[in-house]
Amino acid sequence: NRQLILAERPRGEPTKDTLKLIETPIPTAGAGQMLLRTTLLSLDPYMRGRMSDAPSYAAPVEVGGVMVGGTVAQVVTSDIDGFAVGDYVLSLNGWQDYAVSDGTGVTNLGKSPDHPSWALGILGMPGFTAWAGLTRIGAPQPGETIVVAAATGPVGATVGQIGKLLGCRVVGVAGGSDKCDHAVTNLGFDACIDHKADDFAEQLAAATPDGIDVYFENVGGKVLDAVIPLLNANARIPVCGLVSQYNATEMPDGPDRMNWLMGQILSKKVKVQGFIIFDDFGHLYPEFAREMSVWIEAGKIKYREEIIDGLENAPKAFVGLLKGENFGKRVIRVAQD
Ligand code: NDP
Repeated sequence: NRQLILAERPRGEPTKDTLKLIETPIPTAGAGQMLLRTTLLSLDPYMRGRMSDAPSYAAPVEVGGVMVGGTVAQVVTSDIDGFAVGDYVLSLNGWQDYAVSDGTGVTNLGKSPDHPSWALGILGMPGFTAWAGLTRIGAPQPGETIVVAAATGPVGATVGQIGKLLGCRVVGVAGGSDKCDHAVTNLGFDACIDHKADDFAEQLAAATPDGIDVYFENVGGKVLDAVIPLLNANARIPVCGLVSQYNATEMPDGPDRMNWLMGQILSKKVKVQGFIIFDDFGHLYPEFAREMSVWIEAGKIKYREEIIDGLENAPKAFVGLLKGENFGKRVIRVAQD
């Protein structure tokens, strides 16, 4: 049983010493348990937070513990009603080949799901995050302008496409021209701006001539800086993530603009609301799953993923994800079906 354990807490970007691959015996499931074999492991930005012991909404992984993560797995042995040998499940095995589960928090996907990896993306946590954050906090009205960064990732791409379905102008922000082309040509965004461009702030202003009504916050940093002056009165900011800051080791450079920001929020009556998807909106999951399935079936939502072979490649792929090396949802294929 190969396991990737947290060998030390990283300072800044995780290094080759952060995670260590070890080999342990395959565990045995007891009464009321099942043995799961991981086939797919989801890589998600929140995992950086779990490597750190800074105060957070969730407990960190212990040093020496297996990295946490959402997985698609196959049932190898089972002593639980409703889970039969050979079934695929959505589970939280973490970064390892095998895990024992008592079925808590595990969803049965059946013997031959059409797109097992989608349970980790468009039909799972990231898709749900986009849907709930946009519709419940962003609450966009037809004709309004939405801006979302990480626009080709699983959250941002879904936010933008739902925004179009709701009749909004959608402006994406992404790293590089390939990603921006994809957002406009394939995902139907009205515009997409490369945040690496020198005149990024000017380009964003030009692409939002009517201002910004909803800024779906995925990244923070200079994207946030460019957005704030463009916000309209009564704008909404669902605060979903701040991926540009996840490897930060100290407060950002520059003058303290905290009071200026609060002044903008006050004078423009901006609603800023952070959310943690399952804490705040878990009860809405069935509604999301129904609505998203209909959209996908009708070809209204597109989904791009990037599957990388081999558990041993997960650490490097994860570091790259935080820097935008991914193009679409990053998933590790841990074992062939
Ligand atoms: P992505 O697959 O989109 O990966 C992160 C992306 O962030 C990168 O690909 C990169 O895209 C972009 N990025 C990285 N650094 C910067 C930077 N300095 N400036 C601008 N963009 C940057 O991730 P997800 O779709 O899985 O997640 C998106 C956000 O949603 C994350 O912040 C994540 O933490 C958050 N999240 C929050 C949840 C919640 O419950 N609140 C639940 C799930 C996700 P590019 O190359 O285009 O810049």
